[in-house]
Amino acid sequence: ATSSDEKAAALSTTPSDSPTIFDKIISKEIPSNIVYEDEKALAFRDISPQAPTHIIIIPKVKDGLTRLSTAEERHVEILGHLLYVAKLVAKQESLDGFRIVINDGPLGCQSVYHLHVHLLGGRQMNWPPG
Ligand code: C5P
Repeated sequence: ATSSDEKAAALSTTPSDSPTIFDKIISKEIPSNIVYEDEKALAFRDISPQAPTHIIIIPKVKDGLTRLSTAEERHVEILGHLLYVAKLVAKQESLDGFRIVINDGPLGCQSVYHLHVHLLGGRQMNWPPG
């Protein structure tokens, strides 16, 4: 998939708290390339990588955390944990510099409503992002 496919998917997805494809990745009902797992978080390679390393980091229990803009106080610990896992995975991948992205909502190009952190690396990033 190209980045324009990803944008089309984001614009055609209605934000909701319904189960997503990531629940099936967590339950291993659908296969994924898992690179890190602990009791609270799972990290797997993005099916449509936008960089040589492109990893998705998610909470194993969604607990209503569909998107960053609706996060609540109870999510503070898991939000911090996801960023710390990003750091651990960046080291595991031997990344010398990387980018963390959290897309929020249709305008932010979010297509899966189970909060996730993108870890991108292995190439020179550009600024501003698209
Ligand atoms: O931030 P956004 O919601 O757009 O990101 C969802 C990401 O999940 C996309 O990068 C997409 O390629 C990835 N994905 C995946 N495996 C799936 C479905 C989506 O890696 N089965």
